Amino acid sequence: MNNFVLHTPTRILFGQGQIAQLATSIPANSKVLILFGGGSVKKNGVMDQVYSALQGFDLQEFGGIEPNPDFSTLMKAVEIVKRDKITFLLAVGGGSVLDGTKFIAAAALYPQDPWHILETGGAEIEQALPVGSVLTLPATGSESNRSAVINRRATHDKRAFRSNHLFPLFAVLDPVYTYSLPPRQIANGVVDAFVHTIEQYLTFPVDARVQDRFAEGLLLTLIEEGPRALAEPENYDVRANVMWSATMALNGLIGAGVPQDWSTHMLGHELTALHGIDHAQTLAIVLPSLLNIKRDTKREKLLQYAERVWGITDGSEAERIDGAIAATREFFERMGIATRMSDYQLDGSSIPALLEKLAEKGLTALGERQDITLEISRQIY
Ligand code: NAP
Ligand code: FE
Repeated sequence: MNNFVLHTPTRILFGQGQIAQLATSIPANSKVLILFGGGSVKKNGVMDQVYSALQGFDLQEFGGIEPNPDFSTLMKAVEIVKRDKITFLLAVGGGSVLDGTKFIAAAALYPQDPWHILETGGAEIEQALPVGSVLTLPATGSESNRSAVINRRATHDKRAFRSNHLFPLFAVLDPVYTYSLPPRQIANGVVDAFVHTIEQYLTFPVDARVQDRFAEGLLLTLIEEGPRALAEPENYDVRANVMWSATMALNGLIGAGVPQDWSTHMLGHELTALHGIDHAQTLAIVLPSLLNIKRDTKREKLLQYAERVWGITDGSEAERIDGAIAATREFFERMGIATRMSDYQLDGSSIPALLEKLAEKGLTALGERQDITLEISRQIY
């Protein structure tokens, strides 16, 4: 196992009715800006619950943060934060609202042009406003990690950044709030959490048995509960298992002390930036192909994955690896997510522009061995 430092400071308020703890989670006398997306939280009643939980607080709201949050929208919120001397940011929504809120939290106190945050991956962030969240879409893990991903549609950019100043203070995780999710978004959430787990698991073995078995537990749970979450949208226990899996998949725990390979996310980001494809759909396109092309360097873990996650023990090594990759693709498709570029009306002619974007960001040596060159990325696409 590799050395690691693990710091997961976010207070998790999990379960039905936990919104009641909101008032005691936000510092008294805060000037709170509530951030939200396109209005789902107003339709499903979550926002009403936020307001009744925060009676007596000085509240304002900023809506319209879009899926794949846009730099220019977020900069409007930054102006409001500065003008009105906001002291606390409360994100109410999915990963896009949360990521956008993290960006606002850092940008409001950033001494330079905030685009610099995205050019430098957050390395120079020295402070940020405190952030808390009421999560309505289990997927990204953003509610208890220090990362965020922002788009700039004007330049077809999608960039990630991270900072220790961006761990949210708390996250309210009420599975009931996910009942109103459309099937496409619950499927996206399950697949995003699944791929986060894979990217910290399917690398090369360092005898990290706890991390491996936690990861396998999350994968098995998502495989069992994902289809049930689609079939029984108001099954509380199913939604609770999915929600907790998504948080645990990316709160640092399973990634501590193990090699990681985020190339599926990196290649996927360009598909969203250039073609507007949903985040999880891009992952479902990239991952099966990536596993196939990297089957030699990931051989040992692919065999472990085949056996422990998919129960595949018969056949040659190549057959077991083929079986695990096919089962992965089939799982995504069972969730209703298509896995090939052609399913999204794209063909080979779209690949050069995707590679150009990767090159522009210097993403020319990806993967746990830094051996995913632009040529390998081309093959994966
Ligand atoms: P999202 O973009 O936040 O939301 C997708 C859609 O779901 C929105 O239209 C939203 O509507 C709707 N929605 C959310 N909650 C709902 C509910 N309870 N009922 C009905 N509709 C609801 O989706 P996401 O998958 O959570 O976030 C995706 C973003 O996160 C991407 O930009 C991705 O790159 C990023 N990401 C971040 C991390 C990280 O570590 N920070 C990791 C992976 C991915 P409204 O807008 O109307 O609310
Ligand atoms: Fe993701």
